[in-house]
Amino acid sequence: MMRAMQLARPGEPLRMIERPIPMPGPGELLVEISACGVCRTDLHIADGELRGPLPIVPGHEIVGRVAALGADVEGFSRGDRVGVPWLGQTCGRCLYCQTARENLCDDPLFTGFTRDGGFASHVVADARYCFPVPDRFGDAEAAPLLCAGLIGYRSLRLAGAGDAIGLYGFGAAAHILAQVAIWQGRRVHGFTRPGDVAAQDFARGLGCAWAGGSDEAPPEPLDAAIIFAPVGDLVPIALRHVRKGGRVVCGGIHMSDIPAFPYADLWGERSLLSVANLTRDDGREFLHVAAQARVSTQIVEFPLAEANLALDRLRAGAIEGAAVLRP
Ligand SMILES: [Zn+2]
Ligand SMILES: [Zn+2]
Repeated sequence: MMRAMQLARPGEPLRMIERPIPMPGPGELLVEISACGVCRTDLHIADGELRGPLPIVPGHEIVGRVAALGADVEGFSRGDRVGVPWLGQTCGRCLYCQTARENLCDDPLFTGFTRDGGFASHVVADARYCFPVPDRFGDAEAAPLLCAGLIGYRSLRLAGAGDAIGLYGFGAAAHILAQVAIWQGRRVHGFTRPGDVAAQDFARGLGCAWAGGSDEAPPEPLDAAIIFAPVGDLVPIALRHVRKGGRVVCGGIHMSDIPAFPYADLWGERSLLSVANLTRDDGREFLHVAAQARVSTQIVEFPLAEANLALDRLRAGAIEGAAVLRP
């Protein structure tokens, strides 16, 4: 039997269920999970801000070991350590899949959203979308790399090559991306909830050049800002702090409405864009970069049965770094 924390209805707590361990189908891996990160997207699903099929087992930052292989799996053996990310499957046929933009696939499966994910002891995943995990990371330390790190990295790439980077919302993604950007030689400015002195100390401790509240101005104009907090009010604020030609990248899957703002704040070839999902190339590139940059993830571990507590702490902004569930 396997155990999982399942969401039956948005707004209700996840409940522990037991069911037979599934058999992997053709091309699939059965993964025995050792750690699964808790992402803000899981919170949006649990709270009903993102609606998918129910019931569902959330969780898309999965690290575990291959327990069984379906037919026709290539590249993995029993016992291999694997990471299972948010992108669970793509169609391979649509315009986006055929133009190296599988992150935008018209008919995808997403782990922990449209197929069962990693808040569980076991999960079945399409082997073609799983990654080997670099040896330097422990299981729990690696989990937040699978989404916070990976989609954060895509956001950083789309933010361009500028030196001065602002990160709005200093949680799981920002604490990883700050380390990568500093390793790349950039100056990182960390923005937290106003008055969150602990998070600002955390940001400075990771090497950020400056840290302050999102209601404060950075000490220099930004070349780009990435918004990880799900707060639409931050969009016009960030636009006012990027220089001409600068970019504001929204790195989350859900955000509250963006208030109206003067066109002058966008003028000067500033651009505003969102980042959606990941490609497998993003995953392979980021995991390599994370190992090279010697990223150190700060994690707070919870037993699987305490998934609801982990979600509550994340909702309250009370997690420094990333929450990780251990089955
Ligand atoms: Zn497609
Ligand atoms: Zn995520």
